[in-house]
Amino acid sequence: MMRIILLGPPGAGKGTQAKRLEQEYGYKQLSTGDMLRSEIASGSELGQQVEKILAEGNLVSDEIMVEMIEKRIAKPDCKRGFILDGFPRTNAQAQELDMMLKNHDMNLDAVIEIKVDEKALIDRIQKRAQEDGGSRNDSDIDTIRHRMKVYNDQTAPIVPYYEATGLLYRVDGMRSIDEVAMQIDAILDVD
Ligand code: AMP
Repeated sequence: MMRIILLGPPGAGKGTQAKRLEQEYGYKQLSTGDMLRSEIASGSELGQQVEKILAEGNLVSDEIMVEMIEKRIAKPDCKRGFILDGFPRTNAQAQELDMMLKNHDMNLDAVIEIKVDEKALIDRIQKRAQEDGGSRNDSDIDTIRHRMKVYNDQTAPIVPYYEATGLLYRVDGMRSIDEVAMQIDAILDVD
């Protein structure tokens, strides 16, 4: 049973590692980006509301995101634990998360920051967009840069908050997927 937060800029590999942790250990991947994209794909009212925000690389409101996550963590598929992939992304979200975990009598086990070199990351995201057949907005380099700026301005400031809790660990995200996986497993002590 583990409750984990993965932090890191877009393209750092959070989704890849979260999926692997779900497959190997049964901790449920909770990707807020995936949830929002499926809302958009379904054409729901919420989806229509957030479509432009995602396309521009800005953040959806804290209120919407907090509600989305709060509904999710209480579901039975999170009983073995969960991996927050893309949440929290602002100070307000981090504080709301603390409160909701307390309300549900849940503890966090680890916050793992995947550290990357931004320039190399942009190359990696471009390559991934090509592999995806250019179906994602990531192919727009200006949007990528904007999303990095949003990360640096709004999400990076929550790192010291978790550092102060003693739960923060850092891994080198410039390594191969397998090496990053090994670093994460060593932190979680699950290998
Ligand atoms: P991701 O797949 O995690 O990179 O998320 C894709 C997009 O969804 C982001 O660029 C934001 O527009 C939106 N998003 C995902 N998670 C959050 C969040 N926790 N708070 C605000 N916006 C989010």
